[in-house]
Amino acid sequence: MSDETPTVAGPAARSLDVRWIHGSKSSKHNTDPELQVYWYDDDMVILRQNKAVDYEAPFMFLLFGRERVALLDTGATASEHNLPIRAVVDELVESWRHRHTQASDAYELLVLHTHSHADHVAGDDQFVDRPNTTLVAADKSNAWNFYGLSSDSDATATVDLGGRALEVLATPGHDDAAVTFYDARTGILFTGDTVYRGRLYIVDWRAFTRSVDRMVDFCQSHPVVHVMGCHIEMTTVPGVDYPRLTTYQPDEPPLEMTVEHIRAVQTALRDAGPDPVKYVCDDFILWPMDA
Ligand SMILES: [Zn+2]
Repeated sequence: MSDETPTVAGPAARSLDVRWIHGSKSSKHNTDPELQVYWYDDDMVILRQNKAVDYEAPFMFLLFGRERVALLDTGATASEHNLPIRAVVDELVESWRHRHTQASDAYELLVLHTHSHADHVAGDDQFVDRPNTTLVAADKSNAWNFYGLSSDSDATATVDLGGRALEVLATPGHDDAAVTFYDARTGILFTGDTVYRGRLYIVDWRAFTRSVDRMVDFCQSHPVVHVMGCHIEMTTVPGVDYPRLTTYQPDEPPLEMTVEHIRAVQTALRDAGPDPVKYVCDDFILWPMDA
């Protein structure tokens, strides 16, 4: 692959002025909110779950369009007492609608997922009885049917939010249901658990390699200003991760990455070879599930 940058003009990269909640020495004495809320711009929110509630501390995203708002993932905890994802989303939607009075009373919430693993879907049940809500179950047959990816997984699907389109790429490998979302409005690529600063758990090595190739190809023809996954597991020391179950990560690198990061994963997969093998790089670790 060449390292030429995309030539398509796109949105400017907005820097993230945020210090993410990252757990505490004593989870029992943690004083952070269950969910951290960060407005990336007027029409997009990034949420992070508290590590004291669940060590996975996934990130979730809320993208507002004119007709509907998409929530990407619902967190790692089912209990609304421990993770009030529904209440927080309701409040955010209300505050957005307050600023956009043209949004109708039927303004819809579309609950989507980066993939089907438990730490990304646990809050789904909180949305089951919510009015004006479409909850798309995360399993492959259901989600891919909704997007229209079932018949042609090489195609790029589109979810229309009203004046804002999300493009959806099938990116299996970490999970057979995994997808990657591209938001042309912000120029952000949401890579789920396929690419992030951490242990890239790979269930299907071949599929994962193809998915990363597909992402790199996509980035050649689309302006991508940030790449955002759903976790942070590396430290700021190259090649060193926080062990699984860690609930205090004072030295996290940033959430946001660039296309270079995806290219580095592509190169690592190529260097590691066709057979699954644990492979440590500065910003991530290829981690086959059967190794
Ligand atoms: Zn995850």
